[in-house]
Amino acid sequence: NASRLLGKTVVITGASSGIGAATAVLFAKGGANVILTARRIDALTNVAEDCATAHKEAGVQYGGNFVAIPLDISDKSQIASFLEKVPTELRDIDVLVNNAGYVVGVDRVGDLSLENMESMFATNVFGLIALTQLFIKDFKARKTGHVINLGSIAGREPYAGGSIYCATKHAVNAFTGALMRELVDTPIRVTEIQPGMVETEFSVVRFKGDKSAADKVYEGLQPLVAEDIAEEIVWAASRPPHVNLAEVFVLPVNQA
Ligand code: NDP
Repeated sequence: NASRLLGKTVVITGASSGIGAATAVLFAKGGANVILTARRIDALTNVAEDCATAHKEAGVQYGGNFVAIPLDISDKSQIASFLEKVPTELRDIDVLVNNAGYVVGVDRVGDLSLENMESMFATNVFGLIALTQLFIKDFKARKTGHVINLGSIAGREPYAGGSIYCATKHAVNAFTGALMRELVDTPIRVTEIQPGMVETEFSVVRFKGDKSAADKVYEGLQPLVAEDIAEEIVWAASRPPHVNLAEVFVLPVNQA
């Protein structure tokens, strides 16, 4: 029931493109307030404007506050000062969507660079954990809250050339499962969304800008689009309070 989103406040990381941007717009349509974060402030501001347009078109009476706040989740000091940047009236957060993720290269183990390994772990794992820690104390005190983490099929099935990215998503899976069990005696919900192939900027970043190599991955199937995953995230957030959608594994029809 989408009415459960009315007036809720959602924080989304990686809201400047792809799944995060589509999720922000869908929450906006459903009458939620959205705090959009990522590193690229121009792209983020554009998505915040898209949210305002979608909200207006939907004609809902609730929500309507869309704030773009630059945040690099691999930077501990930016996480530590993040809440100060959130407008006071929006500080009671209901849902944290840990969507920001980074993959670079399809390098075999022998060719991995320390820099790439560190940047993937810093964003996909340590950043996600640090931001969760920031909100969890408040969720416990207010006896409410929902953490939605973006895992991946890569967190279930490792692939050649993806050792580090797959390791980061396996870490997200382990962290999310442990968190859910730690919070079992609270009303706080914890969800992991595990997409298969979704056509976003992510694929081009993975192949270091080589669009034709990125497109090859989709040969023989119709990849998901960002909106497909946004629908799952918003669906999880709009379940009745006693229902925790723990894991959602979403594949294109022809991906096994
Ligand atoms: P995009 O590349 O379109 O989006 C990634 C987002 O993460 C961008 O908004 C980017 O914004 C943000 N981001 C990257 N690094 C940082 C950082 N250090 N701090 C803050 N924000 C950061 O990809 P998707 O939308 O496809 O990916 C979203 C999530 O879905 C990721 O976690 C990804 O691993 C996961 N996923 C994607 C799949 C796919 O096939 N596309 C499949 C399975 C999972 P900016 O550059 O502005 O900081």
